[in-house]
Amino acid sequence: MSYRDTQSRVAEQLGTVRSRIERSCRRAFRRVDEVSIIGVTKTWPLDIVRAAIAAGIHDIGENRAQELAKKAEELPAGVHRWHMIGHLQRNKAKVVVRHAASFHALDSVRLARALDRHASEAGRVLDCFVQVNVSSETTKFGFDPHEVPRALDELAAFDSIRVVGLMTLAAPVEDPEDVRPQFSLLRRLSESLPDAQLSMGMSGDFEVAVEEGATHVRLGSVLFGRRRSRT
Ligand SMILES: *Cc1c(COP(=O)(O)O)cnc(C)c1O
Repeated sequence: MSYRDTQSRVAEQLGTVRSRIERSCRRAFRRVDEVSIIGVTKTWPLDIVRAAIAAGIHDIGENRAQELAKKAEELPAGVHRWHMIGHLQRNKAKVVVRHAASFHALDSVRLARALDRHASEAGRVLDCFVQVNVSSETTKFGFDPHEVPRALDELAAFDSIRVVGLMTLAAPVEDPEDVRPQFSLLRRLSESLPDAQLSMGMSGDFEVAVEEGATHVRLGSVLFGRRRSRT
């Protein structure tokens, strides 16, 4: 496919996604500008990132540190920002501090300490979402819901990372209605944080997530098509 075809296909998909988000916002009496789209470009080449940016997606997500670094070096943040949305090993903390506007998968205090140290050295503050494991079968990563209040207390001690909200990966289900309780649990857990942001909702369940209060939906396949490899 030529770049122009790719670009118009992404623009078209984005139009459809935006109207679906608008409908969800109307159902939930929310303003559409409360919801931002993170275009998840993992496994896709840079032309997809360029097409996303050209279509107006200014937040780009990657779930692996190495891929993020490689792409961000070629396409440094400009009108767009990079977001790290996947599990991170402590030895890659520096990559995220260097390239990402925010980190969506903070799942341990030890990782927070590493990020805080690198962010402090770099003279910046890194916005982080605390990952919560609301469906134990999806992933082994994230704090258990009952651990969240204590985690938020401990994380508040770091000066160079700022917890802006909570993130979750819901269980993959046939009917997105089935994950509504997981999203509403995340929202309730976030209530102790002032102005909490909620990073929840992917291609299969973003409408329900928006109805339950998502401020960031992380969308890959619904915008860019099916990935050939890995999830
Ligand atoms: C891949 C991925 C997404 C996007 O998944 P789609 O179902 O393609 O929209 C969202 N969040 C995370 C953490 C991911 O790894």
